[in-house]
Amino acid sequence: MPVPALAPYDDQNIFARILRGEIPCRRIAEDEWSLAFHDINPQAPVHALVIPRHPYVSLADFSARASQAEISGFFRAVGAVARQLGLEEPGYRVIANTGLDAGQEVPHFHVHILAGRAFGHRLVPASAE
Ligand code: 5GP
Repeated sequence: MPVPALAPYDDQNIFARILRGEIPCRRIAEDEWSLAFHDINPQAPVHALVIPRHPYVSLADFSARASQAEISGFFRAVGAVARQLGLEEPGYRVIANTGLDAGQEVPHFHVHILAGRAFGHRLVPASAE
């Protein structure tokens, strides 16, 4: 069920539980600002998720409330994870589903890194246009 971009933060969401170590994940990297792990239901040969350590519901929430250090630390981590996974050539796609129409399901801000095949230019399924 998609979640609103500016819903109150629910500290029982699945990524909050992963951050607290209550449920496992296939960890890729972590630092002061972020945790990166493999998606449980991959949509491409490589499908990683990067999440901030602090509680933000969505990109809308993160971009409004996070500090400059947190924003820069987080997005540097996204690039570093892609580099660590060897994705810079031939490339990768980054997606941040935000709110209801984007189909965001987990209400803790996250970035998807998708790679391992050519995605082409189309960003949304033809049926959605
Ligand atoms: P959203 O639709 O919110 O942008 O994406 C949420 C993503 O989280 C989905 O791709 C889904 O497969 C992934 N996901 C949901 N639950 C878990 C989990 O328990 N572990 C991991 N690693 N990924 C999850």
